[in-house]
Amino acid sequence: MDYNNRVFNFSAGPSVLPVEVLKEAQEQLLSYHGCGQSVMEMSHRSKEFEGIITEAEADLRDLMNIPENYKVLFLQGGGHLQFSMVPINLMNGSGKADYIITGAWAKKAAAEARKVGDVRVVADSSDKNFTYIPKVSREDFRPDADYVYICSNNTIYGSHFPYTPDTGDIPLVSDMSSCILSEEVDVTKYGLIWAGAQKNVAPAGVTIVIVREDLIGKAPDNTPVYLDYKIHADKGSMYNIPPCWSVYIAGLVFKYLKRKGGIKAMHDLDVKKAAMLYDCIDSSDGFYTCPVAKEDRSLMNVVFVTGNPDLDAKFVAEARAEGMVNLKGHRSVGGLRASIFNAMPVEGVEALVDFMERFKKANR
Ligand SMILES: *Cc1c(COP(=O)(O)O)cnc(C)c1O
Repeated sequence: MDYNNRVFNFSAGPSVLPVEVLKEAQEQLLSYHGCGQSVMEMSHRSKEFEGIITEAEADLRDLMNIPENYKVLFLQGGGHLQFSMVPINLMNGSGKADYIITGAWAKKAAAEARKVGDVRVVADSSDKNFTYIPKVSREDFRPDADYVYICSNNTIYGSHFPYTPDTGDIPLVSDMSSCILSEEVDVTKYGLIWAGAQKNVAPAGVTIVIVREDLIGKAPDNTPVYLDYKIHADKGSMYNIPPCWSVYIAGLVFKYLKRKGGIKAMHDLDVKKAAMLYDCIDSSDGFYTCPVAKEDRSLMNVVFVTGNPDLDAKFVAEARAEGMVNLKGHRSVGGLRASIFNAMPVEGVEALVDFMERFKKANR
């Protein structure tokens, strides 16, 4: 493929998109399928945009095998608004919710939920700097909790839930921002799944919410209208003007994923890409180390360190000079991080591994 002097972008978000999709958007930029307008310009009530959002939802349902009794919403406000919308909409039975804290995002989500009701932290891996995923079982949860909340993939710390917590009848809520569409998920095990699109799906601006029908429509009367899932569900995500462009690109990505064989095929590729990097790290005789417990490592965000901050900085600078960008770890943890979302080509990971081998020889 011709990458048109593009760099390999390892950013954790906003992040790389498939070249095929970008080219398609480029071709349709000035006149979407001959209608004489860009998707950026057209009315969200036009038949063209109605087609875009309807197909995007249908393709996502198809890809993720989303059952009929779940609503799919395309919202704005990013992940941070979901930290609030989840408790406002779901914490309305006992007013209790149980959270598993495996990183910065789950912690922030719990802090927002505390403004709404009674939050209990069931497990917390901050004792080991979020380098593992705690094991929890059904008995750990309060039986009357309105929901249990997890963050499936911890973008900053590079960890991922290797199992789906068994919550019995309590709805399980997951933030899948950085792993949605990277693995097959049994949607029926969740009450609600949400994902900011700007990690593994689309440009920033749209947040996907997949929610079981019976859980919505119970928000308190004083809920600001935009924050009520029911409003968006009843209006097909068109209560107000949706983030049209981001929904459009998400739709193109869904079609691209279907062409490529769906989530199973993507997952196999993701496993292969991640293994290349973890093998390189684990076989480096300690030059590189990954702090995350082996069984809990993320396929999407590979976190590693040399143990020397100056050397890490040199790594980032030299990689950048070779066209591999955004390899710096999150500002809160330092070190290095290679985010290898679905759209990162295998060639990008090969180039990075090759660089890592050379960098090790030159600096050990
Ligand atoms: C990026 C991220 C968030 C925050 O998303 P915003 O859209 O920036 O609010 C939340 N959760 C996870 C897992 C993320 O990766």
